[in-house]
Amino acid sequence: MREDRHVTTVLAVANQKGGVAKTTTVASLGAALVGLGQRVLVVDLDPQGCLTFSLGHNPDRLETSVHDVLVGDAEARDVVVGTEEGVDLLPATIDLAGAEALLLMRPGREFTLARALAPILDDYDTVVLDCPPSLGVLTLNGLTAARSVLVPLQCETLAHRGVGQLLRTVREVQQITNPDLQLLGALPTLYDARTTHSRDVLADISDRYGLPVLAPPIPRTVRFAEATASGATVLSGRANKGAAAYRDLADNLVKHWAGSELVTLG
Ligand code: ADP
Ligand code: MG
Repeated sequence: MREDRHVTTVLAVANQKGGVAKTTTVASLGAALVGLGQRVLVVDLDPQGCLTFSLGHNPDRLETSVHDVLVGDAEARDVVVGTEEGVDLLPATIDLAGAEALLLMRPGREFTLARALAPILDDYDTVVLDCPPSLGVLTLNGLTAARSVLVPLQCETLAHRGVGQLLRTVREVQQITNPDLQLLGALPTLYDARTTHSRDVLADISDRYGLPVLAPPIPRTVRFAEATASGATVLSGRANKGAAAYRDLADNLVKHWAGSELVTLG
């Protein structure tokens, strides 16, 4: 029997709203996938460099970053750094804020990241992209390089305004730059199961946008803030419900990519 060719899954985590746990999801899911034995690369596409910082690297002290890769001054494999969590990181620095303007002037600008990652994709089982809080050219690069997109949503009133705009952007990317892009669904974050309010918001999202809601919801816990400050994810250190939720999510996604149905909240 012929052995299946190795296929790398590229997952974009996107929402133009800030503070919905995109970066937390990329770091924690990345660490959870490593825990399942995967080789994982995470890519920081936010000039703020929060993912880079939360994985123990100080953006101000890095010589090169994803910016150099996007503008063609460096190869991705030369810029990737290791982390204590076991994920590889393509880091960001504030330089990336200037990449947006440089990229805008180039033909095929949405494909820049996809092309830059192509030579190292085979080194990984999963690549997770942390998109910035905008629908600008960096997010378009993320969506164009990805096979799937996951949308973290905070379960609070009005927190999901803007979802319609994001879904329109995803559809445009599917029509124009990446016909294979699959919208996985929304991931409820900062979830408080004790309030009916959180549950109502979730039901409303799946009704209104026809968007699958991924299981499990990620509970609100103070452990995330503690972890970020220490340059590690919630998966290292003491057991907690946040880490358990991201492990279950990783398990759900890996099984889905192997052919099972996604576990959703209906
Ligand atoms: P984004 O990347 O979408 O802007 P972040 O991942 O940076 O969002 O998260 C925003 C803030 O919320 C951070 O301070 C983070 O520590 C906190 N946070 C994320 N997830 C949780 C959670 N499940 N419980 C409590 N705080 C969280
Ligand atoms: Mg972020």
